[in-house]
Amino acid sequence: MSRAETIDTLAIFTGKPAFPEKLYVGRPNIGNRDSFMERIGDILDRRWLTNEGRYAQEFESRLAELAGVRHCITMCNATIALEITIRALGLAGEVIVPSFTFIATPHSLQWQEITPVFCDIDPLTHNMDPRRVEELITPRTTGIIGVHVWGRPCAVEPLTEIARRRGLKLLFDAAHAFGCSHRGEAIGGFGDAEVFSFHATKFFNTFEGGAVATNNDELAAKIRLMKNFGFAGYDRVVYLGTNGKMTEVSAAMGLSSLESLDQFIAVNRRNYLLYREELSGLPGVGVISYDERERNNFQYLVLEIDEEVSRISRDLLMEILHGENVLARRYFYPGCHRMEPYASYFPHARLLLPATEQLAGRVLVLPTGTAVSDSDIATICRIIRTAVAHGAEISERLGAR
Ligand SMILES: *Cc1c(COP(=O)(O)O)cnc(C)c1O
Repeated sequence: MSRAETIDTLAIFTGKPAFPEKLYVGRPNIGNRDSFMERIGDILDRRWLTNEGRYAQEFESRLAELAGVRHCITMCNATIALEITIRALGLAGEVIVPSFTFIATPHSLQWQEITPVFCDIDPLTHNMDPRRVEELITPRTTGIIGVHVWGRPCAVEPLTEIARRRGLKLLFDAAHAFGCSHRGEAIGGFGDAEVFSFHATKFFNTFEGGAVATNNDELAAKIRLMKNFGFAGYDRVVYLGTNGKMTEVSAAMGLSSLESLDQFIAVNRRNYLLYREELSGLPGVGVISYDERERNNFQYLVLEIDEEVSRISRDLLMEILHGENVLARRYFYPGCHRMEPYASYFPHARLLLPATEQLAGRVLVLPTGTAVSDSDIATICRIIRTAVAHGAEISERLGAR
């Protein structure tokens, strides 16, 4: 019998993992090394390390082109980009956000004492349910932040319609959605602005980094001032600002990553199709789908485990994979509303978030990207098939341990 075809070969029993080295979710994709090193040499030669450098400017114009927007403003990371955009839009009071997102989405509001009001999701799309948004609007509400979770666009049109009708600002956290499209249009141009993340764990990285995309000239000018302390020229500060600038090293990485963008996406797509094929027909284990008519980056390989049907719990499956050095992750477990400070502020939030609660118990994200090979995927899937086929027996044995 080959490895992991019977439960006796599983590492939770043998202590011998299938992979000698850990396989991580979000292991960075590295672009063209030579072109990156060349740019680094140039940065050092010219001694221009940050502040509207050549590479930051070039990167911004390439990004704007790709996202099909008038302005793309690079930042040191997406969290600061969200904070600055929230402030530039004049958000205050309450803002409606999903809880099924990375903690930076509500934190970027709470950090400036704006209350995130958590909205439940549509279990089919994993994105904020626009039918639940209006009932959360109060006289204090100033805006909505939609999140394109997994790079799958959220309900852009319904949210745009609600925002327009109720006089609210609309921002999108597009941290997952660089290179994706909605109805054939690049993510970046929807709402008042959209924010990308280029963090090391995202499929396209600048070490740390982010950008704000917008078609609003006035907003863009304001954001540019705010990310540079409010400086409008030497010795002239016209605004309350902070420091959100991207360094030249990050911009150089971005330009080199851009040269490999299509390749990253092609690898992710290939991995996705391979995983889907290897895991097809497993009871209670679904691989989320992407709309093939749109551009997707396929950066997240997301399993949804229906414990009523599968013979194994999501958490036991994760434990088994961790034993094999496959560091599968529960995203966005347990939901932002169960993390601090929100759990203390809104101890009953879960009662209004049944779909979020359920999904946070079902999702398991697997490693993908250029660091994962076809044979890695075959092995990971073999482990999952064995675990699912013998779930009850494994639980029993572990219970008896
Ligand atoms: C990664 C991420 C962020 C934060 O991005 P950073 O660049 O790490 O600050 C925000 N929102 C979502 C949904 C993310 O996944």
